[in-house]
Amino acid sequence: MRKNIVAGNWKMNTTLQEGVALAKEVNEALKNQQPKCDVVICVPFTHLASVNQVIDPEKLGLGAENCADHVKGAYTGEVSAPMVASTGATYVILGHSERRQYYGETSETLKTKVNLALENNLTPIFCIGEVLEERENGTYSQVVKAQIEEALFNLTAEEFSKIVLAYEPVWAIGTGKTATAEQAQDMHAFIRQTIADRYGKEIADNTSILYGGSCKPSNAAELFAKPDVDGGLIGGAALEAASFMGIVTAF
Ligand code: PGA
Repeated sequence: MRKNIVAGNWKMNTTLQEGVALAKEVNEALKNQQPKCDVVICVPFTHLASVNQVIDPEKLGLGAENCADHVKGAYTGEVSAPMVASTGATYVILGHSERRQYYGETSETLKTKVNLALENNLTPIFCIGEVLEERENGTYSQVVKAQIEEALFNLTAEEFSKIVLAYEPVWAIGTGKTATAEQAQDMHAFIRQTIADRYGKEIADNTSILYGGSCKPSNAAELFAKPDVDGGLIGGAALEAASFMGIVTAF
């Protein structure tokens, strides 16, 4: 079923103590709310188990920001999907543009990560999006389509129906430059059509497609009002409970 979701992506921010405090604050704020969306926080690996202890899983979902492309073994410094799942987390962000850009993640590795996440009952929040040059030279739709096809279209329909997508134009991430609601809607509709062409209209209609990139309380309502925008993946504005809640309540 298509759900509205607002997910925080804390990236490499907060110490453990700061992270637990922030999670508690968000959890507390949600106690008095009946949000019209699922709320999730994706936190650094080091915080997962501790944050899981202080949140109400009925109100606040927990996710990691990445996982390894192997299950176990001699991969120093890596954290596997089973490890993430064992902390109580149920989501994992995969394919974020920062992972693609700075850590060389390719569609091939992402394909493996998506499979491992699904095998371990983690819901992938799979990120796609073009860089500025691709926006300006008009190839952005093809770029995003290829990202989806290469990493996800090997999945069965049943597997694909467990994926959450996040359209994050790279030029809008952390830049303060949000895509207009119309630009977001156009791309989300295109992404949904791409899914429909492969898996059929029903699965496409049931896929949650989040927008990410400088989403904040002041622009969230306009973005979320668009028919194909099912929520947001929130970076900077997720690092304060008040601004994160301002986005949650924009639905
Ligand atoms: P931002 O990041 O909200 O800080 O632009 C979004 C993201 O990278 O997920």
